[in-house]
Amino acid sequence: MSISYSQLFWAGALAWFLFWPGPLAAQWQTRFEQSEGRQTVSYAEGMDFYEKLARAYPQTIRLVPQGLTDSGLPLHTVVFSYDGNFDPAQVRAQNRPVWLINNAIHAGEPDGVEATRQLMLALAQNPELARQTVVVAIPFYNIGGVLNRNQTTRVNQNGPEAYGFRGNARYYDLNRDFIKADSRNALSFAQIFHTWQPQLFLDTHVSNGADYQHVMTYIATQADKLGGPMGHYLRLFFIPQLEQKMADRQFPMCPYVNAYGRNPFPDGYPQFYDLPRYSSGYVALFACLGFIAETHMLKPFAQRVAATYALMRSMLEMSEAEGAKLTDLQKKQYQSQAQKDSLKLDWEVRKDTARRIAFAGYASRRIPSRVTTGERLFYDRTQPVQGEIPFYEFFSPIRPVQKPMAYILPQAWTEVLERLQASGVQWKRLRQDQEIPVEVYFIENYQTRTAPFEGHYPHFNTEVRSEKQLLTFQKGDYVLWVNQPAGRYLVETLEPTAPDSFFNWNFFDIILQQKEGYSDYVFEDLAEQLLKEDASLRTQFARKMQEDQAFAQNPEAQLDYIYQHSVYREPGYRRYPVFRLHQELPLATE
Ligand SMILES: [Zn+2]
Repeated sequence: MSISYSQLFWAGALAWFLFWPGPLAAQWQTRFEQSEGRQTVSYAEGMDFYEKLARAYPQTIRLVPQGLTDSGLPLHTVVFSYDGNFDPAQVRAQNRPVWLINNAIHAGEPDGVEATRQLMLALAQNPELARQTVVVAIPFYNIGGVLNRNQTTRVNQNGPEAYGFRGNARYYDLNRDFIKADSRNALSFAQIFHTWQPQLFLDTHVSNGADYQHVMTYIATQADKLGGPMGHYLRLFFIPQLEQKMADRQFPMCPYVNAYGRNPFPDGYPQFYDLPRYSSGYVALFACLGFIAETHMLKPFAQRVAATYALMRSMLEMSEAEGAKLTDLQKKQYQSQAQKDSLKLDWEVRKDTARRIAFAGYASRRIPSRVTTGERLFYDRTQPVQGEIPFYEFFSPIRPVQKPMAYILPQAWTEVLERLQASGVQWKRLRQDQEIPVEVYFIENYQTRTAPFEGHYPHFNTEVRSEKQLLTFQKGDYVLWVNQPAGRYLVETLEPTAPDSFFNWNFFDIILQQKEGYSDYVFEDLAEQLLKEDASLRTQFARKMQEDQAFAQNPEAQLDYIYQHSVYREPGYRRYPVFRLHQELPLATE
């Protein structure tokens, strides 16, 4: 029997009853069950639930504190392991898949908090559900945000009655913080992630934006950007299977509707580009399939929780069926990354090719606003529309870079080193002072955002030129070999032209300001002498005067040109202080 699309959605609307855990023993009930899905647990209630669960099922469930958050409270993971093996190295030796779930990164979006409680209870009571997969869940990631409980900040969201706040204890949006790691939460997350080295990752959210019929949408990490054997597997196998499982569970899902406030029907929409600053983009740097669950904000809370739980059960089934494949693919992904001598740093969506996806929306039109003098968007829920629309999920690389053999990072840059360490970068240190021929970048051009963004004024459109130089490095400076599991992370953070590079996130701004200078009237005489003695400089200067009208009328710029092209130029000014090493050297490292 075939069922129509609208029947599917009708079933989906009821499905939360089907997924309702049923009459729970009183000890496992929280305010979520007692309010029939209208409320979500507080931080204390949620942690209390897991403490009780770990006490009742010590063979399979563990609650582990791991690192601090900006709130002052520690992060916790709840770990389920069928055979009671909670040691990450042993789990790897057993070739078992690890699935990491992150909740409440945006604390106003607590669907995953409840779904994860249901999942962990189901696993404890029926461990056969996951004989292979070790399930590691962060029950509350943005603890500061969860503690900042309120009833108003998610103005467009249909429940729960009270929830946390998006910003963390220091007002950071943690889902922009995975590379710059301003928060202690991000550094602790990196430690958890690299302790477990999962093959599969899920971060749970609630959408903003357009109205449509789907309860569940998702962002998968961009498959072309992920690349390698995992990229193919994600696009050709994992996503279609996962979509099928969700349709079977009466929650047909489609990719996150990346068309803010606009009905994409029938125009289609592009895939969300998950830069490494986002959770799914960060984990993709480490051979992990990253997923973001985005339930639809206008659907009732209980129904959204049911959809999130259905997605979790579907992902768990995938992980159980595909466990050996996933662990094998992770190894192959690292091998394939090591074999490439170039890496693509940035991507743009292709409009010439698309996947046709089944989409169920509502007719929309623009009508006069009764509040403002403008027009407003209006979705007509009495007119559901459905059919196939284009989804632009193919991306082209736009910024390839040759990988060096290694980077050399002087020990002075402690903030960068702290982040590299948290992300599992392995290094060697120079045992003595040493002269090394390196490729040096100079920052030629960059633009800077004029409004603050997440505590920064990030740069973009950064351009470099490079030079070979013989530089003296100091005992204790760091040599970072690119051929290591964190190699891709190194390239995407240390190449200044990469969109989420440490340079673009302002970690090296200090080199953009000259420290010394000259007095015009003193340097004038020296400049005259320099021009006289240096024929090549004289020719360059004359050509510049001829070719550049503005320059020819700007005496200050003319004098500065001679200074910048002389031996008096400040060597470190705009010289990017991470150096590229291209050949094997008899490096004395310890
Ligand atoms: Zn969110």
